[in-house]
Amino acid sequence: MENLKVCVFCASSAKCDSAYLDAARRLGRHLARHRVTVVYGGGGVGAMASLADGALEAAGTVIGVIPRFMYDLEWGHSRLTEMRIVEDMRERKRQMVEDAHAIVALPGGCGTLEELFETITLKRVGQFLRPIVLVNTRGFYDRVLAALEHCIAENFMDARHRDIWTVVNEPEEVMEAIQSAPRWSAENREFAVVKPRPQGKQ
Ligand code: AMP
Repeated sequence: MENLKVCVFCASSAKCDSAYLDAARRLGRHLARHRVTVVYGGGGVGAMASLADGALEAAGTVIGVIPRFMYDLEWGHSRLTEMRIVEDMRERKRQMVEDAHAIVALPGGCGTLEELFETITLKRVGQFLRPIVLVNTRGFYDRVLAALEHCIAENFMDARHRDIWTVVNEPEEVMEAIQSAPRWSAENREFAVVKPRPQGKQ
């Protein structure tokens, strides 16, 4: 069987609490030990670098996908197994997600959240069907999850959309979460649009 590929979204910040950098490094090691190929944004700074370094330390395979302008600015990691240079941010995101068997989001800033929310949206409309796992280091995702709960409470999303994502506290729980994630099929797009219940129905 082809090696599993997991795409990781994570922060470029190197100023964040060291617990986040540590979680990224541990996730890299955890995935490498499970012989999973790590695909990420190719950055050589912050949690992105820690993730790649953790995987490389454990003899893992790491693929970076980086837009040309970032590569030219020398924002890329210099020791990856493979670096793919693409035209822009959109093409990068498409390539990172396209053949990933699962998505993992570590805590991060607007870049990480943008990537995460696009993937949640793709899954909602049946264009991406695989597991999405959030690593909730320092309870970072509590506020994001509260915002998603608010979307459900206000009927912008369906309660069944909670099955799109799985939350874990520790990076070492990620593989188990991927394996036991709720099944998601393209038929779930039936409830992608939240509609009023037909008259007379509970
Ligand atoms: P953020 O969470 O805002 O730091 O953004 C991180 C995400 O945005 C990564 O997953 C990358 O895809 C992209 N990104 C933002 N800044 C960089 C950078 N300096 N080098 C590489 N990728 C970056």
